[in-house]
Amino acid sequence: MKIIILSRDSTLYSTRRLKEAGEALGHEMRVIDHMRCYMDITSHDPKVLYQGTPITDVDAIIPRIGASNTFYGAAVVRQFEIMGVFTPNSSQAITRSRDKLSSLQLLARRGIGLPVTGFAHSTQDIDGLIDLVGGAPLVIKLLEGTQGIGVVLAETYQAAKSVIEAFRGLDANILVQEYIKEAKGADIRCFVVGDKVIASMKRQGAAGEFRSNLHRGGSASKAKLTPEERSTAVRAAKAMGLRIAGVDLLRSNHGPVVMEVNSSPGLEGIEKYTNIDVGTKIINFIEKSLQARAAQDGK
Ligand code: ADP
Ligand code: GLU
Repeated sequence: MKIIILSRDSTLYSTRRLKEAGEALGHEMRVIDHMRCYMDITSHDPKVLYQGTPITDVDAIIPRIGASNTFYGAAVVRQFEIMGVFTPNSSQAITRSRDKLSSLQLLARRGIGLPVTGFAHSTQDIDGLIDLVGGAPLVIKLLEGTQGIGVVLAETYQAAKSVIEAFRGLDANILVQEYIKEAKGADIRCFVVGDKVIASMKRQGAAGEFRSNLHRGGSASKAKLTPEERSTAVRAAKAMGLRIAGVDLLRSNHGPVVMEVNSSPGLEGIEKYTNIDVGTKIINFIEKSLQARAAQDGK
């Protein structure tokens, strides 16, 4: 098979691993910077061009689109879709996953457990918002934040009110969430491929830190999931329309709750802490999907 990895940087761990895993299975792997792709949007012969040459004969792409390039990256993925190229994550699903608020709304609609979460526009509604999530302590999140930046634990009502006012004063959009204290600064990253959790790790925040992000100094270990956690992660990815996803769960008193569904989950941490060859599992999934598609076309 000919597989293109859409990635800005071929030296990134995840990009390198996917390339190696594909090559080891005998596939022709190419890394292409989606921000340097340009497109011919015609109906009779749609093309993606790279360095002056149309990209032809591609069986599948693996999009690794960073949050800051979602708009253009998704357009490139969409163009490959129009050309009939297989992608595990569609342009639509990638775009949707980048909007935290609408993602949570979508998950809620599918009956997936979430922390009690509120959202408001006006600072006149702060009291109502705080009451809605059961008062302090509570968690306030910048809608545009990643890697734990812009996630604040407010221990008291007054602190919550000041932080919300400050963020709203800067015109930032925020979510307010019940604080899942019983998670004790840990979360569970479930790596979903197709309809399975193929690897999972428990991330624990550094001492005195409620955020478990590895980027914030957290550490991790292999996690053993309950059947409920497993099915929650798979259902969350499915609700988002993602066939490759990193689903982050918290272990709450009312069962697993989903915090976030990531459409370009990193391979480095999960491979390191679980010793599972995630790269190969992704390529195997693409192989199976293409075989199923060929069988379908042959009918
Ligand atoms: P980001 O997308 O920036 O990583 P998250 O929403 O995942 O932000 O939050 C970062 C971390 O903060 C989580 O991994 C988790 O450990 C902790 N956290 C987030 N929300 C809550 C919550 N409602 N209750 C308890 N801990 C939380
Ligand atoms: N960038 C990593 C991922 O999405 C998250 C690492 C972290 O926990 O901060 O897989």
